[in-house]
Amino acid sequence: MVIVQDLAEKELNKRIEALYSLLEECTLCPRKCRVNRLKGKKGFCGMARKPMISSYSPHFGEEAELVGLCGSGTIFLTGCNLHCVYCQNYDISNLGVGDEIGVERFSDIMMELQNMGCHNINFVTPTHFTPQIIEAVALAKEKGLSRPLVYNCGGYEELDTLKLLSGIIDIYMPDAKYSSGAMAKRYSNAPDYPEVARKALKEMHAQVGDLVVNEHGVAVKGLLVRHLVLPNEMAGTKEWMHFISTEISKDTYVNIMDQYRPCFDAVNFPEIDREITRDEYFDAIKIARSEGLRRGF
Ligand code: SF4
Repeated sequence: MVIVQDLAEKELNKRIEALYSLLEECTLCPRKCRVNRLKGKKGFCGMARKPMISSYSPHFGEEAELVGLCGSGTIFLTGCNLHCVYCQNYDISNLGVGDEIGVERFSDIMMELQNMGCHNINFVTPTHFTPQIIEAVALAKEKGLSRPLVYNCGGYEELDTLKLLSGIIDIYMPDAKYSSGAMAKRYSNAPDYPEVARKALKEMHAQVGDLVVNEHGVAVKGLLVRHLVLPNEMAGTKEWMHFISTEISKDTYVNIMDQYRPCFDAVNFPEIDREITRDEYFDAIKIARSEGLRRGF
């Protein structure tokens, strides 16, 4: 039986209140748009108060440690605080495809996924809906939710928000997208991404440590970093692997991903308007190994 990190009800309610207060002049993420989302205003992420989801289901395409035998219970949130020019889900992240739901329904969805046997509840692109997610989690816990909670994000996270998730989120799964501010500006309009994401990864690791799996090889807690290799070294693999190895832990689980496809607006960025080559992928693996990393690839 998986033991989910748990906070006393009173403390959980305090966290929910603190998270919602950030929506009033929204500073939930590093964009700090300062719009009043409680009154329906929208900032960079394009989302107001009510949570929107595009789909939910047991997912078998995630990392083996999340999928196990019965799948990862993914819930895809609509909107995004990054809007990468090559986004493979741009209809969800940029065009706002999805349905508004109440937090009660949101909690029922988590229970449905648990009842289907999913090994975890996996919030995909959660950053801009953190208060609503945690409120729904609190409701779901009253209904018996006991699966680990996965925060599956782009890595562009505000430290103060992350601190409010300590003891609630079991598994952090951030992207490590770019090492260069120039690339982060060019592809995601976030020149501070490298610095922000490095701090966020450290905070996540401080909260949950390295990835821990149970006797069946299924993840129960910890940090899992995803690094999508971009053509022409645009993701800064060398710098990321060095940072993870020296400033997080050599035992970090790093999924070095080869599935980059030039989607959405990538056609306007010639240097990334192609898939990566085999050599580019194997070079990334070699770099990770040379830094002493060994888990996840
Ligand atoms: S969550 Fe959305 S509105 Fe709030 S700061 Fe981030 S991008 Fe802006």
